[in-house]
Amino acid sequence: MVSLFSVFLFTSIFFYNDNYRKTIFLNKEEISYFKETAFYDNRLNRWEKPVLIEIKGKPSKDDIKQLSILVKEIAPYLGNTSIQIVKNNGNLVFHFESDLTQFDENPAFKNDKIPLGFMKPVLSKQHQFIKADVFIHPAIISTKRNEVLRHELCHSLGLMSHSFKAFQSANLLGKTVFKDLKDYEKSLSEKNIPNLDKMAIGFLYQEVKTTNYSKKDFDRDYTFAK
Ligand SMILES: [Zn+2]
Repeated sequence: MVSLFSVFLFTSIFFYNDNYRKTIFLNKEEISYFKETAFYDNRLNRWEKPVLIEIKGKPSKDDIKQLSILVKEIAPYLGNTSIQIVKNNGNLVFHFESDLTQFDENPAFKNDKIPLGFMKPVLSKQHQFIKADVFIHPAIISTKRNEVLRHELCHSLGLMSHSFKAFQSANLLGKTVFKDLKDYEKSLSEKNIPNLDKMAIGFLYQEVKTTNYSKKDFDRDYTFAK
């Protein structure tokens, strides 16, 4: 009995460490991507309480499967902030409703034939997420739907901005310079969160000490990234 217990203890400690072992040292491109996508109005925003994802509306089987894969994939990058899918009382709600009121009322989409999706956060004065809602347009299907899901998940974890810069590495919130047509075609069926986005999220949760850290502080600390 005693030895069984110690085996169990060892396994759980090992698993714990495994979840927290992602060491985040950004290279130049990653620093630049972080600067472009994580600062919103010159400030950083993140969750400092457990992220509880709730799914509402009519998700497809694929939506649910995909979300749980993404949650597993991003969890090790969130430092001490936990993330899980819950049945109710979630604070990060993914809406798959067929009701389009949220889209119709959003002035950001007035020129779009089919808007893709959007994220609506409620933030504290200290720039921490209190809650957030993600809306996925029901007319978006297949690989595009998957991309929108990943894109909005990145927004909802704190990468709140878009970048108009082109990056050599694949990413969800900026532009990508593809090596060739094959490289581009491969990206269309990609289902994982690109490394650039994961590293930026990891940096936000593991290296940034406080959400009081401003863009000015960042520019002082990372002068070479200008
Ligand atoms: Zn976006």
